[in-house]
Amino acid sequence: MKKIDIAIARGDGIGPEIMRATLQILQAAGAQLNIHEVEVGEKVYLQGHLSGIEAKSWEIIRASKAFLKAPVTTPQGGGFRSLNVTIRGALGLYANVRPCVAYYPFVDTKYPGMDVTIIRENEEDLYTGIEYRQTEESYHALKVITKKGCEKIIRYAFEYALRNDRKKVTCFTKDNILKMSDGIFHKTYNAIAKEYPEITSEHWIVDIGAAKLADTPENFDVIVLPNLYGDILSDVAAQIAGSVGLAGSANIGDHAAMFEAIHGSAPRRAGQNLANPSGLLLAAVMMLEHIGEAETATLIHNAWLKTLEDGIHTYDIFDAKKSTLKVGTQEFAAAVVERLGKVPEKLQPSHTAMKHNEPKKSQATEIKNTPKRLVGADFFIDSKENPIQKIKKAVAGAPLNFSFMANRGLTVFPNGPQEADFQNTNFSDHWRCRCAAEVATQADVLDVLQRMITAHLDVTKHENLYYFGDEPGFSASSE
Ligand code: NAD
Repeated sequence: MKKIDIAIARGDGIGPEIMRATLQILQAAGAQLNIHEVEVGEKVYLQGHLSGIEAKSWEIIRASKAFLKAPVTTPQGGGFRSLNVTIRGALGLYANVRPCVAYYPFVDTKYPGMDVTIIRENEEDLYTGIEYRQTEESYHALKVITKKGCEKIIRYAFEYALRNDRKKVTCFTKDNILKMSDGIFHKTYNAIAKEYPEITSEHWIVDIGAAKLADTPENFDVIVLPNLYGDILSDVAAQIAGSVGLAGSANIGDHAAMFEAIHGSAPRRAGQNLANPSGLLLAAVMMLEHIGEAETATLIHNAWLKTLEDGIHTYDIFDAKKSTLKVGTQEFAAAVVERLGKVPEKLQPSHTAMKHNEPKKSQATEIKNTPKRLVGADFFIDSKENPIQKIKKAVAGAPLNFSFMANRGLTVFPNGPQEADFQNTNFSDHWRCRCAAEVATQADVLDVLQRMITAHLDVTKHENLYYFGDEPGFSASSE
């Protein structure tokens, strides 16, 4: 069998110990791997690489089929950037997959039946990190959602469900408020769900969905959701499964993939042979499935389940009433190796899933050249006072009509709170002023901008307003 190239990083804190234990188990199980080591993390950060990775490591990671990464320590301050965010972006790892499973009664949990996989979009949303301060008071972050990004992650979720014999894919969004950005995620989900009639589909607004997940996680199977909600809810799900120290995760792209434990480098536990290697080991199991070594993955997964079942536990899950032996990192690894070939008797055994590991390529079901028509712009104005009279005067006779003004989303003109109510309204110094027409040109927008500048209005930015076919590409003035 041809060996597959993978890159590994031993990381910081407990990283080297849990990686050693994991590699020992992979080797004993006969995984066919060519292992290439790269250094990432604290040492590299402190050498002056702000993202914690050197150029030569990128080449090795890009040339490998997968990257197994132990946790790293990000030094405080100094402008250091998240290594994970950098790697996800640079390698196009659009899907974050996190199985959250209860191992009751061997590991304590309030939810014995829980077996949820969270599939989080990994590249877009507020994670693009596009932020601005526009006035003394107001700070903005741009939430970026693309049709293509939605298609990729949602299709991945349904394909994941098929490969893993899952029955339901649930989608969470907040499109009752974010009608356009979360709206396109929800619409894309509805369209793609129709292509998978064998899988049950359901949608929840993220707030009530999150409440239901925390209350009755056994009612969920696979959940797909945008980046920020996924970030929060995947931690909630792992925590309530009772298994933060036992959970692995995968970051999947079309040409690369990274696998890691969900926990950090736990520096206080480092160098003492105490840490539980299970999170990284389960990440390695996902990696083996991804690179096509599904049988080895199953072999290791079952041996690990049997070890848990036999009560051989590291300190973090040890419970004198349930455990039979408290062990260190290396002894735990040895116990898993001893059980290779065995299957659990009470816990659900693993079966060889991931029959084909490439998800269907994103099919641009909706990509069409919708006619785009400029109709005006929203001008954002920095003003301590309500600038309405100044604006009306400035744009009188302009090619675009002053049609609406809002402050922090609250309409001030027309039909806004009456003057008498203003004392109770918490206005900021950031005003959105809409000037529009049936059809506009860039020159019209610049004309209005010029008039505002001449009237000494402090325009911090303007945002063009377009129609796409018959649909407005901007939120309505009543919101
Ligand atoms: P952490 O997950 O490292 O540790 C929190 C606590 O959980 C530890 O004190 C320990 O008691 C326990 N713990 C975690 N993993 C364990 C294991 N495998 N076995 C036994 N006990 C375990 O979180 P933290 O202390 O907030 O972060 C420490 C460092 O890790 C920080 O520098 C942080 O930036 C980094 N971090 C890295 C990653 C990553 O590389 N993917 C993820 C999260 C945090």
